[in-house]
Formats: sequence, C-alpha cells, structure tokens
Amino acid sequence: MKVPLLDLKVQLAPLRDEIMDRVTDVIDSCRYILGPEVQELEKDVAAYCGVGHSIGLSSGTDALIAALMAIGIGPGDLVLTTPYTFFATMGSVLRLGARPLFADIDPVTYNIDPDSVSALLEEDEGKVKAILPVHLYGQCADMARILELAKRYDLPVIEDAAQAIGASYPMVKDNKRIWLKAGAMGTAGCFSFFPSKNLGCMGDGGMVVCNDGRLAESLKIIRVHGGYPKYHHSVIGGNFRLDAIQAAILNVKLSHLPEWHRARRRNAALYDMLFEESGLVDGGRVRTPVAKYGGESEKESFEVDHHIYNQYVIRVPQRDKVKDFLQDQDIGTEIYYPIPLHKQKCLAGMGYSELSFPESEKASEETLALPIYPELTDEMQRYVVERIAAFFS
Ligand SMILES: *Cc1c(COP(=O)(O)O)cnc(C)c1O
Repeated sequence: MKVPLLDLKVQLAPLRDEIMDRVTDVIDSCRYILGPEVQELEKDVAAYCGVGHSIGLSSGTDALIAALMAIGIGPGDLVLTTPYTFFATMGSVLRLGARPLFADIDPVTYNIDPDSVSALLEEDEGKVKAILPVHLYGQCADMARILELAKRYDLPVIEDAAQAIGASYPMVKDNKRIWLKAGAMGTAGCFSFFPSKNLGCMGDGGMVVCNDGRLAESLKIIRVHGGYPKYHHSVIGGNFRLDAIQAAILNVKLSHLPEWHRARRRNAALYDMLFEESGLVDGGRVRTPVAKYGGESEKESFEVDHHIYNQYVIRVPQRDKVKDFLQDQDIGTEIYYPIPLHKQKCLAGMGYSELSFPESEKASEETLALPIYPELTDEMQRYVVERIAAFFS
C-alpha cells in the first residue's frame, strides 16, 4: 500500500469544477491583483478568526515581514522567538536587519517555553522589541503566559500562525473559559496559504490579521511599496500583494476548512489509539503528540479546533532509520525540522553556534511527521502503525 505524506489530488477532486469556474471568472474579469476576490477572502477570514481586520499578502513569509515592518522592527532590534520552526520565522527577522533572540521550546508541545521567554526578558536591556511565538504543527503556543509577559514588558506580539489557521486556544476571562483563534490574540497574526497548510492555495499566498485599525491601514500601505496616496512614498514597503486567482481558490476552500480540521483530529485520535494498542507507547518506542488544550469534555474535544494537526508528529529513537524504513514501504514522512535555527549556516560568525537549546536540539533528532491529511483512510493509518511496529520488532 502506498501512503503519501500529503495527497492534494483527493482534496481537489470534489472541488475541481467549482474552483475552475471561479478561476475562469477571474481570468475573464481581467482583474488579477487584489480586487473583489481578495476583499471577500479578507472579510471571511477575519470573521472566521474573530478579528476586525485582515490583509491578503503574497506569502506567509511576506506576512511576517510586513507585520514586523508595520510595528517598526529594524536594524539592531532583537525579536524573541523559537529556534525550532520553519526558517521563514527567523528569515523575516534577519531580512529586516534585526536579530533573533532564541528561547528554547517546551519538549511536550514543541512551542516556545514561557519560562525561558520570561528569563530572557528579565535580562534584556531594552533591545527586545517584539515576541514572535510560533503555533507549531497546528497547536497554539502558551499564549496566556506569553501575553502576560508582553504586557509586563510592553512588547508587541506577532503570532506566526502559518501552520495554525483556525486553531483555538482556551483563554480564561472573568473566570470563564473562552476559545480564541490563532492569530487573533497578539498584536497581529500571520497565516500562510502554501499548498501544504490546512488552508492552501495553488501557489503562494498569505495574510495578516489584527484588531488594530491603524495597524491594518499601515499594512495595506506596506503591501503596495508603502505608496499612499499612490506614487507618494512616505515609508518603504514591498510588493506583498495577494493575487485574485489564489484568493478565488481560497474562497472555495475556506468553507471546507472546519470539516478538514475535524477529519485531521479524527485521524490523530485513531493514530493515538493504534499506537497505544500496538504496545509501542508503553514500550517507550513511540511518543505520540500531546494535544494540550483538549476540551473539558469529549464533545468539546471533538468540536473545538484545539489542535488542527497541520502535522502529526511522533518521537522515535533511531528516527532516521525509521524514516528510511517507511520510505521503502511506500510511506511518506518528513522531518520538521532537522536543524534548529541557531545552527543554520547563514548565522555563522554571529555567535549563535555556541548557544545551546537542548530541547530544540533533541526534538530535531527525534521527531517524525506522519501522513495526517483529511482524506487518509483508516486502512492506511493501520498500515503505517503496523509498519512502525514491524521496524521495532
Ligand atoms: C509555512 C510557514 C511559513 C512561511 O509561509 P510561506 O507561505 O511558505 O512563505 C512561516 N512560518 C511557519 C512556521 C511556516 O510553517
């Protein structure tokens, strides 16, 4: 049996006609950049996330860059973030001439560890200008603690929610638990519509959401080279525009997102059960991912998008061998991420290589993402677990 890591063909099949019609309309309209499809997407994503504003952008990376520009990050600034994430999180900071200041991760959720953030802020002498948490694999970072620290040190928080559109976080307000969406909690939140994200387009696309109207206005100006009014540039921006064809595709897909999230969560629950039954968990071979904010009842756990499983990531000893073994059995897996950011070559000579972030380093040696896409069948999942058991037998 062949089990790919991701199969976009099965998602496309039932939507293909609708997408083709809508893309054809855009082509015939001859309006290809921004325009009504982008506006509709912005309105619907803002409503979905429960925020006041949203700005369609050319990619998740550009969303991060634009958001950091909009809050004034520049040369000499430090941005507090995690070394265990996709390169773009740090790349966007570096491209603005700023520097990442890394806090290690919580080994259970792989998200930035608030205790480590707190310790770094205590030592900081005013150089840290923003906190950039990542909601890795589709589960929110510990935002209650991060926002509390941000408030204490008067810092903006830019959420890298590229893997977590729609993921919900249980915030306690007036002794009541309310679910807030990824991207809607900090100063601004950044999404990516790269094809492998839970909401993916057919090229590159991204978005920033926020509640501050003035920030939204400045993001709209930054999106068009900082020109406002047109051809008058009081700030320098970039070409960060989302194109209409991508927005049209996303407008078709957005309404399906809740059912895709639920299907991924159902698949995760089945993997959890199968690994438990296989004896691999008790045997200490496989550690399954921990959904930290699972609802207080089973019903809530099922209905609330507390984890959207952009990735289902296990920890295994001999990870690279397991990966090769599964590859030989036609099972696709991936390592997110094999090199923590502080060890990347582009930082050579900047003093990062001597630093040590033990949890990030350990995670980069042990984590393995398994197929989790919505249309995965039970039979495929049983095969994956059975093959991993075969490796260890
Ligand atoms: C995908 C991703 C990005 C970048 O998004 P692009 O749309 O590919 O530019 C940024 N951060 C994280 C954590 C991501 O997973």
